[in-house]
Amino acid sequence: MDVDTRLAEAWVRAIAAAVEREHERLTELDSAIGDGDHGSNLRRGFAAVLTALDGPDAPAPAGPGTVLTRTGSTLISKVGGASGPIYGKAFRAIGAALPQPGEAPADAAGFGEALAAGLRAVRELGKAEPGDKTVVDAWTPALAAYREAVAGGAGLPEAAEAAAGGAERGALDTVPLQARKGRASYLGPRSVGHQDPGATSTALLFRALAEATAAAAGTPGPSGS
Ligand code: ADP
Ligand code: MG
Repeated sequence: MDVDTRLAEAWVRAIAAAVEREHERLTELDSAIGDGDHGSNLRRGFAAVLTALDGPDAPAPAGPGTVLTRTGSTLISKVGGASGPIYGKAFRAIGAALPQPGEAPADAAGFGEALAAGLRAVRELGKAEPGDKTVVDAWTPALAAYREAVAGGAGLPEAAEAAAGGAERGALDTVPLQARKGRASYLGPRSVGHQDPGATSTALLFRALAEATAAAAGTPGPSGS
């Protein structure tokens, strides 16, 4: 399976739907160790992303890279707080790492490199290390699981499913961590015992990728997802 414009749009739409479904939970998590706006931040951001893709003034995207760079730019301009710039830069980096129109489209391995560029962008901007209780703690195991699957011969849907599982485990594994970056770090040891909201939304993002690639492959998603 190649990463084409349709798949990139399907991924972004699946993220927007997941955020719409889960924004209250994200906000609850952020109320415990932050300022209670993570769900509303992402909800506002992805609503604007859908307008940027589907609105009456939206130009047709030139390719999947354009879909994702436009997603990133919209998040940067519409979402304040830590998560807007962090996810914004990540999507811009993923989009920029994908082949340009006229070049051969990315396959599963190529898309893995784009996801790696996304993580690099997150880390460049936020300076978070694994274990700091951030987005990085879900993105890192997601990417590792994705790469391991591709190395074992998996196609894009299977690799994305592995990534979603890795991100979900990574998000759960933030519970015992003490936050060392972002607002939650102001709480010091009191940040322990809560799941990080950003790692949780990163898990939604990778679950949405698994859903979009499974749908593109014509296979039903795993039960319960
Ligand atoms: P804010 O903290 O400004 O209110 P959000 O509530 O939207 O922004 O996002 C909070 C999430 O952002 C945190 O749960 C964490 O995962 C992520 N985050 C915060 N700082 C960083 C950072 N330096 N690097 C990576 N992710 C970060
Ligand atoms: Mg917040």
